[in-house]
Amino acid sequence: MALSGPSYSVDLLTKTKGEMEGFLADESKLARTRELLEKKKEVLNEEQKKVLNLFERVFGCYIMESETAREFRALATRIEGKLEGDRNTLKLGAHLPNDKDDGTHFVEMSSVGLSGRMRVDPDERVRKACHESLDTIGDFVLGNGFPELIKTRNKFAKELGYEDYYDYKVTQAEGFGKKELFKILDGLETETRPLLESARANFAEAKGGQSALEPWNISYLMAGDVTTKLDPYFPFEKAVEQWGRSFSKMNISYRGATMDLDLLDRPNKYSNGFCHWPQPAWVKPDGEFQPALTHFTSLADPAAIGSGLIGLTTLMHEAGHAAHFANILQPSPLFSQERAPTSIPYAELQSMFLDSLVGDAAWRARYAKNRDGQPIPWDILQQDLEEKHPYQVFALRSMIAVPYFEKALYELPDDEVTVDRVNALARQVELDIQGGPSPRPLLSVPHILSDESSCYYHGYVLAEMAVQQTREFFLNKYGSLTDNPNIGPELAEKMWKPGNSEAFLDLVEQLTGKPLTSDDWVTTLCQPIDELLIEEKEAYQEACDGLGSGTVDDDVNLDMRIRLVDGDTVLADTDQEGSFLATCKRFEDYVVERFG
Ligand SMILES: [Zn+2]
Repeated sequence: MALSGPSYSVDLLTKTKGEMEGFLADESKLARTRELLEKKKEVLNEEQKKVLNLFERVFGCYIMESETAREFRALATRIEGKLEGDRNTLKLGAHLPNDKDDGTHFVEMSSVGLSGRMRVDPDERVRKACHESLDTIGDFVLGNGFPELIKTRNKFAKELGYEDYYDYKVTQAEGFGKKELFKILDGLETETRPLLESARANFAEAKGGQSALEPWNISYLMAGDVTTKLDPYFPFEKAVEQWGRSFSKMNISYRGATMDLDLLDRPNKYSNGFCHWPQPAWVKPDGEFQPALTHFTSLADPAAIGSGLIGLTTLMHEAGHAAHFANILQPSPLFSQERAPTSIPYAELQSMFLDSLVGDAAWRARYAKNRDGQPIPWDILQQDLEEKHPYQVFALRSMIAVPYFEKALYELPDDEVTVDRVNALARQVELDIQGGPSPRPLLSVPHILSDESSCYYHGYVLAEMAVQQTREFFLNKYGSLTDNPNIGPELAEKMWKPGNSEAFLDLVEQLTGKPLTSDDWVTTLCQPIDELLIEEKEAYQEACDGLGSGTVDDDVNLDMRIRLVDGDTVLADTDQEGSFLATCKRFEDYVVERFG
């Protein structure tokens, strides 16, 4: 985290993490829970039973009641540790063409750097070289223990009675198995296959022929210049204020929580945005409510083009997680902790629903303004929709390719888990699901390596499905999402309050009134662009007409203390500044002064 002071060291982190895992994997706690459930059956009230049942589920996720399974698990952890260590030392980079002669020179870049360069560099030779480098990650992991890891994970899962490691992972996190998961995913796959085929054909036609579909050309040709045109309307220094205004108009309350936001990038900062809870929210036995304490970070670089929109979307996303976890009202903190058995799509649904608003014309009309306070013109929004909407299916197919690949990988018989076979399998799945080689080669996806994130990607797919169903539900019920005061209280009551005491699929059905299906997502993707433009233009116009009706001076009340920090430095604090807007102003001044 690049924080100074003796209380922030890798050793201490390892120590506290070990203590927490020790607590969760303590067999005597599981035994005591079962004893109470059994012996006191007659006298326990409903709430006590609910808490004990949850304890049993939580401890069950961390305790392994088989010696052999524990041995395989330990072996897998060792192989994984070595593989991740080796992967971190892998030097990536591309042989880029020289300016002055026909030769090349090597430039070192991370995988994120390579993908970024591939998206924006106008020289096709550069983009191709970047993609070739991404492709080498697969050979590296396959040559450094990945096949052994797959086999060991499978042995471990089978020892515990699961079909394979994928089945084990889904069942632990979601409470349903691999078969049920892929019934849902297969529906989505079948329904969007014809869309993919026509989108690929149209893309090739619109962008200069079959070469447009080369994996190093797709994202470059799709992005166009619209990112640059959008940029002035999403000034990074305004992001905190925009999030606060938008959430408070939706009546989202954080129930007295405290939140530290560490938004700016700095050297050696952990290289991924995240949100965590040193203090989960819960209701104590005497009825007193313990508000949450949340920390979250992102890697914003306000000087880069497009950073304002990315920063804002990240903020809406992570603050959405924070709103969710601040509103869990249950009789133990274990209902509101972020690890298993808390479901991944359950958590991601809340954050992805709230960050989806930033893409809506109504939201943009109201909040996207340049530094002179002028709202974003419609023609930029139109161009954005025209360039991206027809090809959204590419993102969906790239998302589902990961679970299909991992499913097939863990289903290979042991003697087929070889470098050549796994390589061929990855290429086969890219061809089947994405229609050709992927801009992000499957074997380069970082999630597939570590225990925590492998066999987990389906969480994003199910969450997006539920986001589309939730959007459709609220749109049908109220006609609009932006600034709708009903949305906060309704999500808090039906989605957030239960925490992990209820299953993800049940919660979606209870809120939207129907079981989770891919119908609404598919309908959104299939909507003809002309029709979408008419709808969005109307929403844009309506939101513009409503501007000026008191949105600027209204105070913002989220019922939380916010501290904007940069590592150890506190940039602004609601307790010091007195109000949310005064805190935003202080942050804004700091960013403008530092980044210009
Ligand atoms: Zn998230």
